[in-house]
Amino acid sequence: MMTLTFLGTGTSIGVPAIGCDCDVCRSNDSRDKRLRSSAMIETDGGLRVLIDCGPDFRQQINRYPFKDFNRGMLYQTADKKLIDHFGKLDAVLLSHIHFDHVGGIDDLRPFAWFGDVDIYAKADVIDALHQTMPYCFKPSLYPGVPHLRMHEARHGEVIHIERPQRKEMDIFYGGADLQGKMRNDTRNITIERATDVLDIIPLTVMHGNLPILGYRIGPLAYITDMKSLPDESWPILEGTKTLVINALRFEKEHHSHHLVDDAIDVARKIGAERTYLIHVTHDIGTHDYANSRLPEGVEFAYDELQIRL
Ligand SMILES: [Zn+2]
Ligand SMILES: [Zn+2]
Ligand SMILES: [Zn+2]
Repeated sequence: MMTLTFLGTGTSIGVPAIGCDCDVCRSNDSRDKRLRSSAMIETDGGLRVLIDCGPDFRQQINRYPFKDFNRGMLYQTADKKLIDHFGKLDAVLLSHIHFDHVGGIDDLRPFAWFGDVDIYAKADVIDALHQTMPYCFKPSLYPGVPHLRMHEARHGEVIHIERPQRKEMDIFYGGADLQGKMRNDTRNITIERATDVLDIIPLTVMHGNLPILGYRIGPLAYITDMKSLPDESWPILEGTKTLVINALRFEKEHHSHHLVDDAIDVARKIGAERTYLIHVTHDIGTHDYANSRLPEGVEFAYDELQIRL
């Protein structure tokens, strides 16, 4: 079993949109505040996988408590559960190079304390990141930047994730006490062995004319920024129980994103039992009203929603 936490469910500009005074952008309902789309998966055995790492990543992950290094306890700094904001990430899966999906990669730096951060993406995304963030990669590695280990993900080729060994290490993270005196202590951290494994299958999704990746993870399929699905991707989605899929708005066609009815059609074709819509705009109306327009088994996700799979 695993838990999926929606870190963000908004479209590329987020909700509220800058400069917009519509009813949705001015709503006080926290479910109408949508950061850029991203999700965290945590297996019951201890594996942690991040899907996309947009410009809101730092804010998204800091919403959660973290483990006391020395006592191994979660600081309950917020009324949140399950997710540990600062622990090893076993994999980061990227869908495509658009900024709303990769703009937070620099903020993965602290996670390199736990070892290299393994990032899975299509070859064109890896190439583009080398262009936009050259200081993150050898030979121009800049001190203090994340050790990003890029892995090419290909349609239909299984990505196997495991953490077979327990590791203990001392890290020096800095910080200060209340008087501003710098802490010089190292902290001993333990990364527990994960007791389960994950097999993830990337699949091609068409984002207008751009082929990007969706991911099948056991009973879950996570698809964002889809306009259409090529024939070869349908078999990979067979047997999906929970579908997370983009749906920009109810009306007004978009060249590279499909709309709510299209997402529902895909969900029906796959036979998903539960469908959660993400990457939505303020055009859908308020969360409650928008949800009331959806058929049984389909709902809009919202930021911080957690589901069990
Ligand atoms: Zn997007
Ligand atoms: Zn608005
Ligand atoms: Zn996009």
